[in-house]
Amino acid sequence: SLDTAWAVRWIGAAADAVAEHRTELVALDRAIGDGDHGENLDRGFTAAREKLGDEFTGPGAVLKMVAMTLMSKVGGAAGPLYGTAFLRAATSLGDGDASAEALAAALAAARDGVVSRGKAEVGDATMVDAWTPAVDAAEQAASNGASPAEVLAAAADAAQTGAESTDALQARKGRASYLGERSVGHRDPGAVSTVLLLRAAADAAG
Ligand code: ADP
Ligand code: MG
Ligand code: MG
Repeated sequence: SLDTAWAVRWIGAAADAVAEHRTELVALDRAIGDGDHGENLDRGFTAAREKLGDEFTGPGAVLKMVAMTLMSKVGGAAGPLYGTAFLRAATSLGDGDASAEALAAALAAARDGVVSRGKAEVGDATMVDAWTPAVDAAEQAASNGASPAEVLAAAADAAQTGAESTDALQARKGRASYLGERSVGHRDPGAVSTVLLLRAAADAAG
């Protein structure tokens, strides 16, 4: 099962991944939005990384710190969306060590938080197109007896496929929707950052 040290490794790895992919996220957002997604997330995860040396009572407490930090530092659409996702995941996970089933449930809670906040459905070319297949894959893996690390890897793989699916979709939520049909042919930046965060969670577990 996954403990506080895993959550700390996850957020450190997520901060590394966001920093490494910052210019790619900026370029994706420049094509269909305002070009700030990489900077917004890098600012948020850099601030979260600085708090990873604090004392935490469990994995949920780490994720709650991340939620609060992202809400105060990221701004735009993604700040409240990821803030809500991490807060719901924190509450779902609690402070016990996380089983495969608990991780699948926490991912579902995170996705439900994004949907309740942003009202996007699958097919609207947003981060929901990465989150929802990730949740489905995680739930299936957990019910097949997969380990926590395998659940997270399945989620990350499915999120990647989901992010690729946004290439062919017209954006119906967020700034990209202002482009109408001209948003087709571009990958959604928030779906790509979702893959980075889930891959970091899996890497930290394996
Ligand atoms: P902003 O658009 O305010 O500049 P960001 O660039 O940081 O914010 O984030 C843009 C990302 O937010 C999009 O790529 C998309 O994945 C996500 N997004 C925007 N609006 C919504 C929404 N209503 N529901 C889900 N995700 C959304
Ligand atoms: Mg933007
Ligand atoms: Mg913006």
